[in-house]
Amino acid sequence: MNLAYCYIENNSSALDQTYTYSFDEEKVCAGKRVLVDFNHRECMAYVDHVEINSTQTFPYAIKKILRVLDAEPVLNEEMRELGKWMSHSTVSPIISAYQAMLPAQLKPKSTKVQIQMEKWVKPLEDHTITLKQKQLYDILKKRGEMKRSEWLKHSLARKLESLGCVEIYEKEKRSEEKIIEKETNIFELTDEQKNAVEKILHSEKDVVCLKGVTGSGKTEVFLHCAQQVLKQGKQVLFLVPEISLTPMMVKRVKQRFGSDVAIYHSALNSQQKYEQFQSIKNHEKKIVVGTRSAVFMPFDRLGLIIIDEEHDASYKQASGCRYHARDVAIQRGKYHHARVVLASATPSLDTYARAVKNVYDLVEIKNRINQNMPDVKLINMNEVIRKKQSYILSDTLIHAMRETLEAHEQILLLLNRRGYQPVLKCVTCRSVVMCPHCDRPLVYHKQSETLNCHLCGYSMKKISTCPQCGGNLNGYGYGTQKLAEKVQEVFPEARIVRMDADTTTRKDAHQKLLESFEQHQGDILLGTQMIAKGLDFENVTLVGILEGDAPLERSDYRSSELAFDLLTQASGRSGRGRKKGRVLIQVYDEYHYAIDCALHQDYDRFFQNEMKYRHLAQYPPYTYLCSLIYVSRNKEEASHIAETALEELKEKNFKVLGVSELLKIQDEMRYRIIVKSKNLKELEDSIYQLYQKHRMSKSKVKLQIDMNPMFLDE
Ligand code: ADP
Ligand code: ZN
Repeated sequence: MNLAYCYIENNSSALDQTYTYSFDEEKVCAGKRVLVDFNHRECMAYVDHVEINSTQTFPYAIKKILRVLDAEPVLNEEMRELGKWMSHSTVSPIISAYQAMLPAQLKPKSTKVQIQMEKWVKPLEDHTITLKQKQLYDILKKRGEMKRSEWLKHSLARKLESLGCVEIYEKEKRSEEKIIEKETNIFELTDEQKNAVEKILHSEKDVVCLKGVTGSGKTEVFLHCAQQVLKQGKQVLFLVPEISLTPMMVKRVKQRFGSDVAIYHSALNSQQKYEQFQSIKNHEKKIVVGTRSAVFMPFDRLGLIIIDEEHDASYKQASGCRYHARDVAIQRGKYHHARVVLASATPSLDTYARAVKNVYDLVEIKNRINQNMPDVKLINMNEVIRKKQSYILSDTLIHAMRETLEAHEQILLLLNRRGYQPVLKCVTCRSVVMCPHCDRPLVYHKQSETLNCHLCGYSMKKISTCPQCGGNLNGYGYGTQKLAEKVQEVFPEARIVRMDADTTTRKDAHQKLLESFEQHQGDILLGTQMIAKGLDFENVTLVGILEGDAPLERSDYRSSELAFDLLTQASGRSGRGRKKGRVLIQVYDEYHYAIDCALHQDYDRFFQNEMKYRHLAQYPPYTYLCSLIYVSRNKEEASHIAETALEELKEKNFKVLGVSELLKIQDEMRYRIIVKSKNLKELEDSIYQLYQKHRMSKSKVKLQIDMNPMFLDE
């Protein structure tokens, strides 16, 4: 009997094991998808491995595979191994790893999405045709093949078809691509850039940390490295945090490498994703520029992986299989013997600590291309308020904005909070209007006249009296909507472009807003952290940061790192062209080291300071962390299971924190344990055991496991 060991398509962790089926056909092999009968339901499954002519016997009847779905395996050996490694290192079901890895058309979940086909023609023989017909035949012959839709535009096409001179066949559909003209003037690299390219290409280490100040021309370094690698016939993967925020980066790569480039990100529809996926698999394209999930493109000759803004939190998947694209990239790099470059002006502490310890190579670019770092100043908002100035815009910032506008230069204003007012409070009973499903205040959105929960998406019409006592409600604080209103009041003539999650819901909205600002159809670009990343506008000479110390209020061990990154990255958007840039940061706590180091653009001092704190408190990079959250509507059940798990973990000599009760989300109670360990393998193995035990217990309490969590304050 031939046996196939399969993973069943089903996200429930209860099924996270292989099930055995038999088959006669030769077509069954590892990595293909098949249909099987599971619990009297037709299910899709992945063949993990097969055993031909097995002599095993079973105490129960082995069912036959119903049908083979793929002509070729959708997961090759590298990807199958990678999936298992991800499943183990993130402690999540194998199927959820495969779901993260494959585009929708190939995903375990969806058997129904059809792969779209289209008709093509190619020449067969040209016997007994007229001269006119021969002319058309020769056009086709010269082209080799042609889409049938295009072919049929010729009047003699059908005639040639009926004469049997052409063959009609089907191919998978490919969308037309916009052609971007290749650039002609390529910069001469600076000495620092040249040095970086050399070091990256010839490093003895697998992983290189490229630390280059903002505006130091890192992109140009990437492009040169990519060119060398392509010359060797290898493929290049270029990861960016968010495509919509990096249209300029995409454009530059396309200008350099033309039709060799595939773009891959979450805003593509499933057909587009599938096409890009296939174009790499079939070697039609050799470079991918993409976000997190592009790390799973089906490369087979990978030579270089670049992760731009490697510190960015969006590289970590926040649900399902919570993988970090950086870890996956390094894993794939090892398999392919490809160089991995982790680049940033503010590397994550984890990465930089490894670079300092010589685990990774360290390459630095210390100067801006224009040799000109911006002037950064702090504005103490306590004083501003004491002087009875506006609590939103200080006089100093208003003054600088006026100067900038008068000089016809542009301004970025960063406020990392969307909506109009974050808190509505009753003047009588002092209670705050909360989301009915979460422990979170509702945020007032003025345009829609609604109160929204930013956690679960709940929305209700705005109310003006307190739901508790009927007293009047008063708004406190401000978000980007109110800021825009205030700015317009002070500068009635200024053209404001607002960019936050509320103005960018439509497709391509980011790109349109950014393009209009680049063409100077706006004077002030105002928005949330979206505008702090990667933008390169040469006419921006003033960056204003409001509530610059707000990230420090987060009760998270990484809050200083987040504050430092945000301020440094945002500051880096000023004065990137020929003109000198300025940065004004409004803060309440000007003496905090994260603020002070950002003020002096001093990464190294920040690193030293922060590492001392992490060492004292035993946080990463000095330990590995795992967060376990038990979630249920039933309070007692969840907290009981959490307490039991805590005791077991304590016995294993891990350092554990908890059980702590977290904020309620969508009516569910949450209890968390944090586990710390210096030994990653031990931690992974123990948590994996705990997961298996929980899975077998079939408890109704959900267990959310986050290995190496990015944040602990949710
Ligand atoms: P980073 O990513 O390090 O912040 P960029 O790669 O965006 O910096 O480069 C900053 C600016 O300098 C860009 O506008 C880029 O076109 C320009 N630039 C890069 N390298 C050179 C060079 N060698 N000569 C002239 N201009 C350059
Ligand atoms: Zn809510």
